[in-house]
Amino acid sequence: MIVILKNNPDKAQLTSLLSWLKEKNIDVHESVGISHTILGLVGDTASLDANLISALDIVEDVKRVQEPYKHANRKFHPKPTVIKVRDTQIGGGTLTLMAGPCSVESEEQIVEIAKRVKAAGANILRGGAFKPRTSPYAFQGMGTNGIELLKIAREETGLPIVTEIMDAEQLDYFKDVDIIQVGARNMQNFNMLKKLGRQEKPVLLKRGLSATYEEWLMSAEYIMSGGNHNVILCERGIRTFETYTRNTLDLGAIPVLRRLTHLPIIIDPSHAAGKAWLVPQTAPAAVAAGADGLIIEVHNNPAYAVCDGPQSIKPEVFDKLAAHLQALHEFMKSHPAPEIN
Ligand code: PEP
Ligand code: MN
Repeated sequence: MIVILKNNPDKAQLTSLLSWLKEKNIDVHESVGISHTILGLVGDTASLDANLISALDIVEDVKRVQEPYKHANRKFHPKPTVIKVRDTQIGGGTLTLMAGPCSVESEEQIVEIAKRVKAAGANILRGGAFKPRTSPYAFQGMGTNGIELLKIAREETGLPIVTEIMDAEQLDYFKDVDIIQVGARNMQNFNMLKKLGRQEKPVLLKRGLSATYEEWLMSAEYIMSGGNHNVILCERGIRTFETYTRNTLDLGAIPVLRRLTHLPIIIDPSHAAGKAWLVPQTAPAAVAAGADGLIIEVHNNPAYAVCDGPQSIKPEVFDKLAAHLQALHEFMKSHPAPEIN
């Protein structure tokens, strides 16, 4: 349920409404806009009498929200969420470029790639330390040593780091990480999502291999209902009947999610394409469709990469691509696509 307050509501009446809601175990999310303040009510709102609330002097309107996700819902929070990570911000009109190898392999590898992507204009360094591999016989990642190497690369470049968690038990290892990535395979690891909701670090939540928008937003809701509202959604391609590409990049997710939620939306063209040559060909479409950023796999020696080499682009390609994406982002700001309401 959302309660739209009149302009400059009487403080005493507002306090009494809030304490009445608290008594009823309703969690209230306040969103202050220029002309109106919106109260997003989460909990057993079915038991509340909407007419009773609308009758209050300070209330302009009361609406029931049909969608099962509340905190993630744009109706609760009309302004886009902006997430600050060290000196960079994600969402709210910026284009964030996250780049780096699929997996951290050595200090030389991660530091070299970090320097190259930083010079090209990347804002955040990616690199997997714990790897969710289809085969138990494949390289499983460097684990905590990988996180230490990411920290060295951050020290060298100033780039914040994003890396994937695979199990709630690993959370202690992530205390120095800037953004915690939840991979596609763990999008519905609800125990882990709950735990990530009880800490403050931003979470990059990848879409499950065959998850609907609603299922994905409900996973975001698991994190947000624990108190952590710093969630970034990442579309990384979904399973379809097509086999030429590794997955099918769903660009429709960008405008749809923009309507449904206030959370920032990042596109991963690398895991969607599965082929390096397709990455620079599809990434611009994400910018044109209004993404808040991209996460791109870059490797200094893709032929020898221990993981996802075929979809990793070389630093020299990333140089050109990053410049192209930023220029396109500027162009799109002055030439927005027409909107139909
Ligand atoms: C990754 O980012 O390297 C990864 C494993 O991604 P996804 O969870 O999207 O497959
Ligand atoms: Mn990968």
